[in-house]
Amino acid sequence: MPLLIRRTLPGLAAWLAASLVARAAPAPAPPKPKLAVVISVDGLSYARLESYRPLYTAGLKRLLDEGYALRAARYQHLNTETGPGHASLGTGAPPRVTGIVLNSWFEQGPGGALVNVYCTDQKDATGRKIAGPDNLRVPTLGDRLVEKTPASRVVSVSAKDRGAIFLAGKNPVHAVYWWDGEMGRFQSSAAYKAPSAAAAIVKKYNDTQAGGMLPARLGLVWDKLPEPAAAPGAKPYPTAVPANVITRYQVPSLGLGFGHDLSTYGRVPAGAPYGYFGGIYRSPFVDVLTADLALAFLNDAVLKLGQGDVPDLLAISFSGHDPVAHDYGDESEESRDALRRLDLQIGRVLDALEANYPKGTVLLALSSDHGFPTMPEVARALDKTATGGRFETGSDTLNNARARLNRLLADALCLDRSVKVVGAVDGWSLFYSKAFPYRTVAGACGPAGAPVTPADVDRVLPKIVRSVWDEEIEDVIPVPALAGWPEGPVKTFVKNDFDKERSGDAFVIPRWGVMSSYSPGRGAMHGTHHEYDIHVPLVFWGAVKSGASDAATTPYDLAPTLGRWLGVALPDAVGMPVDLPR
Ligand SMILES: [Zn+2]
Repeated sequence: MPLLIRRTLPGLAAWLAASLVARAAPAPAPPKPKLAVVISVDGLSYARLESYRPLYTAGLKRLLDEGYALRAARYQHLNTETGPGHASLGTGAPPRVTGIVLNSWFEQGPGGALVNVYCTDQKDATGRKIAGPDNLRVPTLGDRLVEKTPASRVVSVSAKDRGAIFLAGKNPVHAVYWWDGEMGRFQSSAAYKAPSAAAAIVKKYNDTQAGGMLPARLGLVWDKLPEPAAAPGAKPYPTAVPANVITRYQVPSLGLGFGHDLSTYGRVPAGAPYGYFGGIYRSPFVDVLTADLALAFLNDAVLKLGQGDVPDLLAISFSGHDPVAHDYGDESEESRDALRRLDLQIGRVLDALEANYPKGTVLLALSSDHGFPTMPEVARALDKTATGGRFETGSDTLNNARARLNRLLADALCLDRSVKVVGAVDGWSLFYSKAFPYRTVAGACGPAGAPVTPADVDRVLPKIVRSVWDEEIEDVIPVPALAGWPEGPVKTFVKNDFDKERSGDAFVIPRWGVMSSYSPGRGAMHGTHHEYDIHVPLVFWGAVKSGASDAATTPYDLAPTLGRWLGVALPDAVGMPVDLPR
């Protein structure tokens, strides 16, 4: 009897299986994930990407044609800058969770001084300042991946330290590299101890393709790519704002007009690294080098990225478009040329992915840290009804907004005019002086010596700003007023950027078309809660069917979506995995 059962059961199982197959063919198991790829394009709005679509021939064309595009992905935080955006892409959460509320903020230092903290500032073992992930308050997708499968590798490359570091994460085993604008090569810091195979790739690249080799490889001048010939009868290619409208508003960091001499860089902005390597950083050529290094990682026979038993993560942040749009305008010929060149570099990356990995084993996600507005002077030149302007806060020159605001606050609070109540401004965050309480001078407020506290500033600040900058500023929200602020998009954007220790004492809410600015009447700046800054691309490619969706999403969804594909949970994420067609 036992013998009979042993013989019969397998037969029964085979019959059952066969009958199931006859009814519905089981879906083949999807290929195991080998490599997740994150591509961030620094400073690229959805509208800008789409505007030049007919001009793309390589990577951007393929991502848009073959990928799955989420066409309504919008950030929901104020201070849409590179550090905050990359931290959000890396973790799936807004700045209130990541702690990266600005590119740099101000904390209380010794003796009541305000101390500037750059988002990647940290100290090494000897107390020396280095770039690293310590300010990031939660783990990234890369951190969670390595936590789950310690053999997984995370490789991250960018021209900016904050671009590379926040897409990688906090685990020191990650291989994280960024451009050294003084030496013309890629560097890391003591915050990371990359695997020796990764370090060897970068050393070889620096020794054989970077530094002194660059003038021969790239040339000294950034010229415009030749215009493609339009097919007979076809629509003309989309154009940029013509030079005669825009040139007078540009920051001539690499001179005005093509060809831009990369070797002359250094006169503006003051304090920047000088010369050719710094010039490369402010041009689309830096994206060539970023792609070079990403390809060196993808093709390395020792590192074998994405070829192991567990999946790896490759992050690439292309920084080139951001400085170009800052200096020459998002609507400029220079921006158009930078995106055409980026298209070619992303094409190289996609070719390598296809050559190295079986179909369905790679999932790539492309997004951006923030968009860009049109320069207000250009917007007005193109449309006489356009509104907008500049809120100049970067320097402390006599007539800029911060200096004027401090004089008005001193008068309103009966303080000596030498008192700078607002000690610092970054993005749309005001940082009060840490030297309170101040004492009044004799005059309208009575005898001298009455104490003035931050609560007094909170009380008079909104009224002063409204009376002087009503055309630029919609509202001022002192932090104590935030809890009782009417519910709505503005409150959401502010709350998502709020961090008790870092985001300052008051938020300024700019009107449409108004940019915070370091220069009266030149250059462009992002950072607002308006459409042009928050609406960015979110495109998946590889292990996904082509298509598009107009459902509302956020870039916070990028990391959770890749996480679900990798089988990695992100408990700190606020974004949700997107259902991708497979
Ligand atoms: Zn920027």
